[in-house]
Amino acid sequence: MSAGIPTLCPQCDLLQQSPPLPPKGTAHCARCGHALHRHRPNSIDRTLALTLTGLVLFVVANSYPFLSFEMQGQMTQTTLMTGVHDLTAQGKGAVAAVVFFTSVLAPGLQLVLLLAVLAPLKLGGRLPPGFPTLFRWFKSLAPWGMMDVFMIGILVSVVKLTEMASIVPGAALFAFVVLIFVLAAAQAALDPDVVWERVPLPADVRRSPAVGERVIGCDICELVVPEQAVLMDHQGRQRCPRCTDVLHVRKPESLQRTWALVITAALCYLPANLYPIMSVTSLGQTQSDTILSGVLFLLHHGMWPLAAVVFTASIFVPLLKLLILFSLLLSVQLRSHWRPRDRTRLYRITEAIGRWSMVDVYVVTILVALVHLGNLASIEAEAGAVFFCIVVIITMLAAMSFDPRLIWDALEQDHGGAPPTRRADKHNRG
Ligand SMILES: [Zn+2]
Ligand SMILES: [Zn+2]
Repeated sequence: MSAGIPTLCPQCDLLQQSPPLPPKGTAHCARCGHALHRHRPNSIDRTLALTLTGLVLFVVANSYPFLSFEMQGQMTQTTLMTGVHDLTAQGKGAVAAVVFFTSVLAPGLQLVLLLAVLAPLKLGGRLPPGFPTLFRWFKSLAPWGMMDVFMIGILVSVVKLTEMASIVPGAALFAFVVLIFVLAAAQAALDPDVVWERVPLPADVRRSPAVGERVIGCDICELVVPEQAVLMDHQGRQRCPRCTDVLHVRKPESLQRTWALVITAALCYLPANLYPIMSVTSLGQTQSDTILSGVLFLLHHGMWPLAAVVFTASIFVPLLKLLILFSLLLSVQLRSHWRPRDRTRLYRITEAIGRWSMVDVYVVTILVALVHLGNLASIEAEAGAVFFCIVVIITMLAAMSFDPRLIWDALEQDHGGAPPTRRADKHNRG
């Protein structure tokens, strides 16, 4: 908790003083409404307990059979890694790498990093060297762990296969489901401010900036760094004295990068929807499935809630994200003053929804892993899945490279306000 500590809003760059928070209270930015600080009682103890539980579940989820597929007396048994192996064997190594990273590696690393950070805090004494770097890595991994999305992928896959064969859940599946909730609870219990406050800081950084002094906000630990206290590395880059992340007044080349990524994703969106994402061979007959035909299949079988989920996640969300990013980019380039608070909110939506589009990539992975009984029944990933995976990853990167503070810069500069590097000011304390 950061009562009385100056805070630069990471989304609109307003310098403000966070008020002392009541238990479970939240401080929102006075200008754009972004949640700046949230008080989480007993944060270290609760998060540590959940992390240890999560690590046990993670080992179980990766060691035991996940799902079994039985058809006409033949059985395939899969673990979490089977789909990754099979995709690689089918020449879709890039998709396999993304699936492995988002469903196994990122959640596993998050748990290990969280343990490495919280255990020394709990045990007390001096923090180990590299402590801020470990927590910085944990924070950077957060958007990439997608076990909850994977779970929706399992549901869709099981529904698709129920007519064809019987699906038997394994011990790992149960561990996996509980792990999703434990990991979500750990993230909700964690108060990053409590962790960062334990990192020792030199006295010239701990003070509030003087009126008129230039300050830079750290994107990772959200420290407000007075310009004189900025560390310089041997390449001449400015670094945060607390978490050692590179400091930027604005994300570097934000507009150019985001434009390039949005255009690339838009170009890949067409083949992702036109090419089949997989081909299904059943009793010697082969049939190709696009994303849309997968939705229609669910509709025809009366599974309209799942059809709605897949349609929203795979077709609507990527398109919506691209449209929002496109209009945000355009509005910044035209120096628009139109509803900056709503535009910042739109940006937050694009950040939050993008990962849900991975559902169809997971469905293909799970189906490929479960169904390989030769001519009797087998499923292969096709080119559409590769393009689709590229669209999801690139739109996520595009949202990350866009800097929402640019929305507010045009307003400030046109009203004769401060240029991007903030000057501490007595008046804007929320
Ligand atoms: Zn703000
Ligand atoms: Zn920092």
